[in-house]
Amino acid sequence: MRSARLIVFRCLAFAVLAAAPAAIAVAASPSAGTARPVVEAAHAITAESAAVAERASPSPAEPAQAQKRLSIVCTTGMVTDIVQRVVGENADVRGIIGAGVDPHLYKPTRNDIAALQSADVIFYSGLMLEGKMTDALVRVSRGGKSVYAVTELLDEKFLLEPAEFAGHFDPHVWMDVSAWSRACEAVAKAMGEVDKPNAASYAARAKRFVDELSDLDAYVKKVIASIPEKQRILITAHDAFNYFGRAYGIRVKGIQGISTESEAGLEDINRLVTLIVENDVRAVFVESSVAEKNVRALIEGARARGKNVTVGGTLFSDAMGAAGTYEGTYIGMLDHNATTIARALGGEAPPRGLHGKLTPPQAAP
Ligand SMILES: [Zn+2]
Repeated sequence: MRSARLIVFRCLAFAVLAAAPAAIAVAASPSAGTARPVVEAAHAITAESAAVAERASPSPAEPAQAQKRLSIVCTTGMVTDIVQRVVGENADVRGIIGAGVDPHLYKPTRNDIAALQSADVIFYSGLMLEGKMTDALVRVSRGGKSVYAVTELLDEKFLLEPAEFAGHFDPHVWMDVSAWSRACEAVAKAMGEVDKPNAASYAARAKRFVDELSDLDAYVKKVIASIPEKQRILITAHDAFNYFGRAYGIRVKGIQGISTESEAGLEDINRLVTLIVENDVRAVFVESSVAEKNVRALIEGARARGKNVTVGGTLFSDAMGAAGTYEGTYIGMLDHNATTIARALGGEAPPRGLHGKLTPPQAAP
């Protein structure tokens, strides 16, 4: 049987330790079914209750297997994707925040709360990305759930703490592929704790995925480096690309701040118009999870000063592409972003990306 597990709760809104907002949790039993209320989750599972669960199983032919299957709930698509890759067929994995949805602003619905309560394990991104889900995550972890931030293993020295986001770390770490590799290892470690008998298989699957990510990392570096240096400026709707910029050597400017909660002012837009005009920036980018109005205002502003700038494409910043598509995977998301940015800013990248799987780009408006 699993033992009580203590994770230090470090989720203070303005604390420097926002890296790991997991909570004190007595590990919920993965064998106890998938629809238990929180109050029951903390109870040790006796042989008797396990037998009752087994009798209630709709598929008596495979009771042991059905009983062992874990239910995992994740927040964003990027988290869901790496968890899915690490656990494979060992568990049911579902994500709450879908394609095109902004995690900074996302408030969990009643159904989401029910899903969180009935899950065996919960993974979220952390670093205050899912700011409006914090209370819900704290409540379920206090109720005895295994709750993990995939960014837990990242060193604080790695994390960016922009001045305008005083006291918070920048949460958009998935934009640096090496960081998401660490997140993948964190998932394997967490799953090894929750489901010890399968720990080696989680570690092996994570390693295979990390190998794929290292190819992706090399591709992104190469195509971004092919952009002429002066034009290597990435202007997007909000500040989601700071880690991307640091890892791959491109200047990054967001119209809105780190969180989409803050509004961009006219002054921000004018400053960026000047940057565009002075550096002859040929394209700016919209994001799938952020309204386009600020980017449009920027284009208008540049036009008023005699500079034509186009929309270089839609980037996936805080949400992936549609489920079931290549862009709806973490690798596809980064491949799409790097390929789109490189091509729009005068660099070289194959039109269909690293694996030839990207949806052909639509003509920019
Ligand atoms: Zn964001």
